[in-house]
Amino acid sequence: MPSPISFRIEESESVFLDPRKGFETHIERFQVRFDPLTGRTGHFSHVGAIKQQPLDLEVYRRPEVKGFCPFCPENRATYTPKFPETLVSEGRMERGEAVLIPNLFPYDVHSSVLIMTDEHVVPLEDLDEKRLKDAFSLGIDFLKNVRTVDPAQPYHLMTWNYMPPSGGGLVHPHQQYFSTPMPGNQFMDELRAAEAFARVHGRDYWSELVDEEKRRKERFIGETGNSSWLASFISLGTVGDILAVLPGVFSIDQCGEEQIHDLVSGLLRLFLYYQQAGVHSFNASWFFGPPGQEYFTSHFRIIPRTFLNLRDFAPDMNFFQSLLQEPIGVLLPEHLCSQVQPFFQE
Ligand SMILES: [Zn+2]
Repeated sequence: MPSPISFRIEESESVFLDPRKGFETHIERFQVRFDPLTGRTGHFSHVGAIKQQPLDLEVYRRPEVKGFCPFCPENRATYTPKFPETLVSEGRMERGEAVLIPNLFPYDVHSSVLIMTDEHVVPLEDLDEKRLKDAFSLGIDFLKNVRTVDPAQPYHLMTWNYMPPSGGGLVHPHQQYFSTPMPGNQFMDELRAAEAFARVHGRDYWSELVDEEKRRKERFIGETGNSSWLASFISLGTVGDILAVLPGVFSIDQCGEEQIHDLVSGLLRLFLYYQQAGVHSFNASWFFGPPGQEYFTSHFRIIPRTFLNLRDFAPDMNFFQSLLQEPIGVLLPEHLCSQVQPFFQE
């Protein structure tokens, strides 16, 4: 039986007279892809246009650049907020180097910041297994705790801006954990479409996606434990999204040490690829649906971020994403997959 998931690609072309070739006729091809779940489109054009720019981390250590950092250990007790006792009895939660605090500028009812390290500047190669596991497990425990105290909030998510090209306001590594009834358009579009998919096809979308991508061998990167890693058919970022799917995990209650271990194992492999590819910055998200459903599988998405150049520091996202709400990718997922795959082979 054919899979109910279809990967629709519209190939198009644009014609111009090329000044680089004596004004000969030139045909430039591009693609528009349709997300198999939500139907939202994403363009792929200008392939290879964006190169990862170097990031001089030493600059961030200079006192005049560093300025005041509330996340550095010597400032935390005085300058970071505490939770009300009813939510977190000790005020702040800690595990290893990880410290979880309320956001001083909350975006939601439960809007927390997790400081991942004692060090202010931490390169990718130093985001090691212990630091990652401590961070994720503390963040997930916080969300579970919130669920007990405030079960009315149905959705849970982790978000992460790593380093300034990603839009991160502070260099000091940190993640954010939310418990909310309004998790954003991407989350809600996926949730609604996933519910409809399960109703029609009797199976959750992501399990079907993993099976179909495994069969096609075009974007399936590999597995770490029960997690499956894919190059996403649609890229929300410009240089390729990697998706980790955790089949069987639908809500925060089903995420424990084993799932975090699987995710971190894959992430460490991906970070080795990022180091080789010159990626120094990224955005990441990790979604959890409401309890009691089996159609919204937990999944983690990560996209590299960079500047277009170091002359004028143009960001790698522009009106396409901000105003047209249309992602533009310059790296085809199938190509990305072949680059990352070797890092997931034993
Ligand atoms: Zn700091």
